Amino acid sequence: SVRVRFAPSPTGMFHVGGARSALYNWAVARQSGGTFVLRIEDTDTARNREEWIDGIIGALAAIGINESDPAFEGPYFQSHNADRHREAAQQLFEAGKAYYCDCTREQLQQRTGSEHLGYDGFCRDRELAYEPGRALRFRTPDEGQTVVVDLVRGEPAFPNSAIEDFVIARGDGSPVFLLANVVDDLDEGITEVIRGEEHLSNTPKQQLLWEALGARPPRWAHLPVIVNEKRQKLSKRRDKVALEDYLAEGYLPEAMVNYLMLLGWGPGDDREILPYPELERLFRIEDVNTSPAFFDVKKLSAFNGEYVRALAPETFIALCTPWLTAPHASWRPEAYDQAVFERVAPLAQTRLTVLSEITSYVDFLFLDQPVEDEASWRKAMKPGAAELLADARAELADALWEPEALKTVLETVAAKHGLKLGKAQAPVRVATMGRTVGLPLFESLEALGRERTLSRIDAALA
Ligand code: GLU
Repeated sequence: SVRVRFAPSPTGMFHVGGARSALYNWAVARQSGGTFVLRIEDTDTARNREEWIDGIIGALAAIGINESDPAFEGPYFQSHNADRHREAAQQLFEAGKAYYCDCTREQLQQRTGSEHLGYDGFCRDRELAYEPGRALRFRTPDEGQTVVVDLVRGEPAFPNSAIEDFVIARGDGSPVFLLANVVDDLDEGITEVIRGEEHLSNTPKQQLLWEALGARPPRWAHLPVIVNEKRQKLSKRRDKVALEDYLAEGYLPEAMVNYLMLLGWGPGDDREILPYPELERLFRIEDVNTSPAFFDVKKLSAFNGEYVRALAPETFIALCTPWLTAPHASWRPEAYDQAVFERVAPLAQTRLTVLSEITSYVDFLFLDQPVEDEASWRKAMKPGAAELLADARAELADALWEPEALKTVLETVAAKHGLKLGKAQAPVRVATMGRTVGLPLFESLEALGRERTLSRIDAALA
C-alpha cells in the first residue's frame, strides 16, 4: 500500500511551502487508504530546536494533519536512526560501492583547475582504509543514465557521467543528509517521495543509493517552487512565510488549506473554494504543474473572506472575541461590551477578510474617542461639512433611534444641502466612527447610541 512521508528539518518556523508538501502527501495517503509518515530530520543539531519540532506538529494539526488520524504514523526522528545510517555506509564500502578519499579541496582544485567541476575520481582505486579525516564517496556509474520516475515531471534522465562520486560520510564518519534521507525512506517503506523541487538535483544520486542498497527505488514527485509577486522564490528573509504567522493574524485554517492545495494544482474546472474533503477526493499528484506557483497574499485574503462569510454567526463571534478582549486592544478593557459587539458582528462578518481586522471595524464602539484617521477626515470635512453636521446634530437629537429612521433624517438633511445621501454620510461617519470606510453608518449609530453620537458630533464641531 501507499506510504508517503513528510520529512521537515526543524530549523525554523513552519513554512507555507512545507505545509503545501505536507498537504499533498496527506491527500495522497488518505485517498488510497495509505499511510502518511511524519519524520523529523533532526540531524543538524546546531540548527535544530525543540520548540520548532512542537511548532511543526502543532501547525500540521492546525491544517488537519492529525496524529490521531489512522493515516498518520510517527513522528519518527532521523537522529534515532543514526546507527542504521552508519551501517548502510559501511555496507556500501564493504560491497565496493563506496571508497575512502583523502583529497583536500585544494588538491582537487589544482588537478581539475576549477572549483566547479565535481570530484575527479582520484581515490577510486587507491583502496584506502578509513582514517579520521577521510570521506566516504559513492562510486557512481561512468556510463548510461539514471532515469527517475517523477509523477509530476515524467521521467527525467540524468547522464551518469555527470553525477560525480559524491560524499556519503564525512571525515568524522558521520553519514550525510543524502544517505540518511534514503536509509530512513527505505526503512520506513516509503513508496512515493513527494517533496519540493529544490531536491530534484539530489534525486538521481539518491536513486543510485537505493539501488546500491539492494532496494527498489520509490516513485518521486517534485513540487513546483513557490514564488512571490516579483517571481522570486519565497524566502523567510524576504516574505511572510510562516504558517503560524498567518494563523495568528486571523487567517482561518480551512482557508489556508484550500489556498495551499491550489498552489501548483487545480481541480480542473473553475471552482476554487472547495472544502478539504472535496479537494482530497479530486487531488491527483499527476496533475500537479511544473511551473512556479505564485503565492498571492491578496488572493489568499479573498479566500479567507469567503470562509469568514461562510462561518456560523456564533462561530464568527467566538473567533473574533479574543481579538477584542486581548490586553493589546486599544480601548480600556472595561469599555468593551460583548453585547454591543454581537449586535454589529453580522455587519463585520460580511466585510472583513482577516479576523485581525475586526478591531478596526468596531473600535469606534469602545474607544472614548473615535480614532482620527487623517486621510478620512480631510476627505470628509469639505467646505459646508460643518453646517451639515450642525443640522444633522439638531435633527438627530430627537430622532427615533433606529437605522431606517436615522437614514430618513439624514436624507432630509442631505436634500436641504443639495447633497446625495452618500456625500452627506461622510462627515457624520468620520465624526462618530473616525474613518470613511467601515460598517454601515446607520446600524453603527444605532449601536453607538444617541448620547455618544451627539457628543462626538459636538466634539467634531468644536
Ligand atoms: N528535510 C528535508 C527538507 O526539509 C526534506 C527532504 C525530503 O523531503 O526528502 O528539505
